[in-house]
Amino acid sequence: MLDAAKEIAHVLGEDAVSFDADVLEHHGHSDWSTSNSSERAVAVVYPRSTDDVVRIAQICHERRVPMVPFGAGSSVEGNFSQPHSGICIDFAYMDKVIAFHPDDMDVVVQPGVNWVDLNSRIAHAGLFAPLDPSPTATIGGMVSTNCSGTNAMRYGTMKDWVLNLTVVLADGTIIKTRRRPRKNSAGYNLTSLFVGAEGTLGIVTEVTLKLAPIPQDTSVAVVAFPSIGDAAAAASKLIRSGIQLAALEMMDEAQMRLLNQHGSETVRKRHWAEQPTLFLKFSGTTDAIKSDASRASSIIKPFSGGSKFHFARSKQDEHDLWAARKEALFTMVSTRPPGTEIWSTDVAVPVSRLPEIIELSKAECGQLGIFASVIGHVGDGNFHVAMLYDPSNAEQKQAVARCVHNMMDRALEMEGTVSGEHAIGIGKKECLVDELGEDTIELMRTLKLAMDPKWVMNPGKVFDLKTHAKREG
Ligand SMILES: Cc1cc2nc3c(=O)[nH]c(=O)nc-3n(C[C@H](O)[C@H](O)[C@H](O)COP(=O)(O)OP(=O)(O)OC[C@H]3O[C@@H](n4cnc5c(N)ncnc54)[C@H](O)[C@@H]3O)c2cc1C
Repeated sequence: MLDAAKEIAHVLGEDAVSFDADVLEHHGHSDWSTSNSSERAVAVVYPRSTDDVVRIAQICHERRVPMVPFGAGSSVEGNFSQPHSGICIDFAYMDKVIAFHPDDMDVVVQPGVNWVDLNSRIAHAGLFAPLDPSPTATIGGMVSTNCSGTNAMRYGTMKDWVLNLTVVLADGTIIKTRRRPRKNSAGYNLTSLFVGAEGTLGIVTEVTLKLAPIPQDTSVAVVAFPSIGDAAAAASKLIRSGIQLAALEMMDEAQMRLLNQHGSETVRKRHWAEQPTLFLKFSGTTDAIKSDASRASSIIKPFSGGSKFHFARSKQDEHDLWAARKEALFTMVSTRPPGTEIWSTDVAVPVSRLPEIIELSKAECGQLGIFASVIGHVGDGNFHVAMLYDPSNAEQKQAVARCVHNMMDRALEMEGTVSGEHAIGIGKKECLVDELGEDTIELMRTLKLAMDPKWVMNPGKVFDLKTHAKREG
């Protein structure tokens, strides 16, 4: 592995490779996740072009060295960890917008482009990319986890926005999955094969993204509920109402309490009711938003126990209300007691089962006697449970693990999924088998072996190589 890193340094230049222990640590561990590996890459390499990536792949393939792509490291299932060590490929210098086609409503970017940055660079043309995971995330990582975020209720997930990809395969071959039209039924949909593949099938070096028009207007409303069940039931009714909500988010009473105690200055401008709360985002024309808000308020009324439907009165008010939702995770992580770790996980179920699974999961994790909260993108049946636990307390850790596994089992019993948006990484491999069954995993394994016979592309993620007999050589 070290020889491979030295050869890469020889070919790409010494400054394209880092062996620094702090750099390796930063690229191998996430504070946001429980799914970490103790192994680290031997080096981090920094390509600047598709050709550089080809050289890296050729060297690693030849020497059978694992290659682990790295965007911003914001994924939370150990997706970028290096359980088999190897070379970590960081796209920090592949951060260029290659071509912007406002008339076609698309943009071609390198994988290291940050989505917030991209949106501010193209806003002048009235367009945006509507995926919103961690504000630090990059397009390459977002494609590879099939990410989404609060906007998914209205705009769907990453898979709906990728027109084509340029990918460097394990042996250094460059392929382009499709051309640029919005519509395309030519051949196998290889674009979708790579979206959500977590870098296990190839390295994405260019992405053409569809763009959406920035809505003429937006607004936000917030409403508190007597119980999590009432909030989930109201959410379920809203989803089925046909109102074109841009987002529908839920935070439980534990999260709301945290905002009152530790939220930013913006968030603490108001005192939040410490009750389960729904955040609604509207978008469209100003008149349509008013009418949608009024309908939403009537739908919610029977569930809210008389709580006020707080509709933003100004743009500042809208910003401040939404900031509470956007800052929630950061507030939780930055104020956690020393020594504790966060176990955060997401599942998604058909929307009619949402109230039931949220109530059951909340009740179970509420009994653990630790900070535990439900937060999520309930608008598309997706929610997260986050728990802060002491990793040195084996009993507590086991109880938290049991709680998480029970939630997964419950989601599967309801025909849901063990991962609505965080992908599988190392954290959910066993659950994926429960979800899809061995035969489906075996087909994935066959595809992976066809594309990466030496099993060097981000090994140890999504599923394991079961039979070594199948390996080449
Ligand atoms: C505060 C916070 C909020 C979040 N909110 C959301 C949310 O609302 N919705 C959501 O979906 N996620 C959310 N996430 C998770 C995370 O932001 C997403 O998973 C995101 O898509 C990861 O992007 P990244 O650039 O950080 O990728 P990384 O974490 O660096 O990598 C993710 C995966 O992609 C692979 N990869 C990276 N670049 C490439 C490439 N060029 N080619 C091939 N494979 C590659 C990596 O090997 C890894 O398997 C959140 C995380 C945090 C910390």
